[in-house]
Amino acid sequence: MREFAYEAVTDPEGAVALVAADPDACFLAGGTNLVDHLKLGVASPRRVVDVSRLPLASIVAGDDGVRIGANARNSDVALHPRVQADLTVLSRALLAGASPQIRNQATTAGNLLQRTRCVYFQDVTTACNKRAPGSGCSAREGYGHHNAVLGGSESCVAVYPGDMAVALTALDATVVVLGPDGERRVPVEELHRLPGDRPDRDTTLAHGELIVGVEVPWLPDGSRSAYHKVRDRAAFAFALASVAGVLRLDGGAVTELRLAWGGVAHKPWRARQAEEALIGRPLDEASVHAAVDLELAAAAAGPANAYKLALLRNVTWLVLRDLAGEGAR
Ligand code: SF4
Repeated sequence: MREFAYEAVTDPEGAVALVAADPDACFLAGGTNLVDHLKLGVASPRRVVDVSRLPLASIVAGDDGVRIGANARNSDVALHPRVQADLTVLSRALLAGASPQIRNQATTAGNLLQRTRCVYFQDVTTACNKRAPGSGCSAREGYGHHNAVLGGSESCVAVYPGDMAVALTALDATVVVLGPDGERRVPVEELHRLPGDRPDRDTTLAHGELIVGVEVPWLPDGSRSAYHKVRDRAAFAFALASVAGVLRLDGGAVTELRLAWGGVAHKPWRARQAEEALIGRPLDEASVHAAVDLELAAAAAGPANAYKLALLRNVTWLVLRDLAGEGAR
């Protein structure tokens, strides 16, 4: 591991100033992703700015929604009474992520910013455009079980590994970001990016910008939400495919529908074409499969990852079928 300078800060503006001024600096919060990368040699900053002690851990439920501080622990958000009762998709996505020990340590901002678990990205002996721009992409011809089926590029076919961001995408959440010029708000759907020819850039954040919170609006009256994740082992693993859904029916027809998919693209994938195809229609297996197929018209899959297309069809129907029944919200 390369030696680095460590600085703990006491105010967000100071943290932003330190990192923005040094291209070799990065933020440290819960450390559940960055420390792994430091040990593996995937990350080698000269300066690490510890933001974990900033007073950004509150979870405040208001009239319009809940504001989650960047340092709120994943377990605290998942078990917050209002989140559990009214934002089920968020609570379930968090509880589907990692292990209890990691959820107790990992923060909201860190969860959003976790990097891909592509095996080549984490192996510094292999070519990887995300880790070493211009070196090539070992995953395209190599082990492709986890590769993206949507939005991939010649440069990179990695998937975003998180669960919480998928739920937040279905919830139309907003990320509050502090930069050298002050605060700005970013729809969570615009936080992560597709790889294009710059897979080294995971997000639309500029260097030195610090996530300070997430704003999540309450669901419209009568809506229900759910999250379902398929993984290789139930204890803890990243999603092969996951579905976050928000649904409201009126007289048997769909009047509100939001769908976001995880494990299938370089960012949480908002399935807007599928949503539009189902609005105003009764919900049945055939119409859901047809809507998913519409969304997947641009998918690119090979023998190793084509199973994800079938997973998306089946899990999207499973989620919507359950939401259309009693007992969820
Ligand atoms: Fe690297 Fe992306 Fe290729 Fe994986 S898919 S090896 S992260 S460039």
